[in-house]
Amino acid sequence: MFDDVNDLYQQVILDHCKQPRNFHEMPDATRMAQGHNPLCGDNLKLFLTLDGEVIKDASFVGSGCCISKASASLLTDNVKGKTKAEAEKTFEQVRGMITTGKVNGDVGKLAVFAGVYKYPARVKCAILSWHALMGALRGEAAPVSTENDQT
Ligand code: ZN
Repeated sequence: MFDDVNDLYQQVILDHCKQPRNFHEMPDATRMAQGHNPLCGDNLKLFLTLDGEVIKDASFVGSGCCISKASASLLTDNVKGKTKAEAEKTFEQVRGMITTGKVNGDVGKLAVFAGVYKYPARVKCAILSWHALMGALRGEAAPVSTENDQT
């Protein structure tokens, strides 16, 4: 049974890796952040359009492994329409899930990354876009590196 679930999760990740959603530059973005994961070579730029406290639109560009691209793709789908506070809560849920495998609350499709904790080298790939999101929400200009966090 668990193998079936893993297969399903892998299919979702592969789908978002091969055909990433919201994969484009956003010239009128109000926030932008870069993420870099030197351990794997993942690089991405995340764009947000904020309207007050609400994330109206999100997109990304970049290159990297399948996990990092699928994570950014699902992230941009997930945070559209959320408030900053809701996105921060989702970040905490995703970080907990990716590092422990335990899902706390409803994370929707992001649950496909619950198995990543078994592969420590992949954890930073999966969390990269989320750190970029937090950097963008905080309005930090410096690129986000997975080497500077406690994940
Ligand atoms: Zn990677």
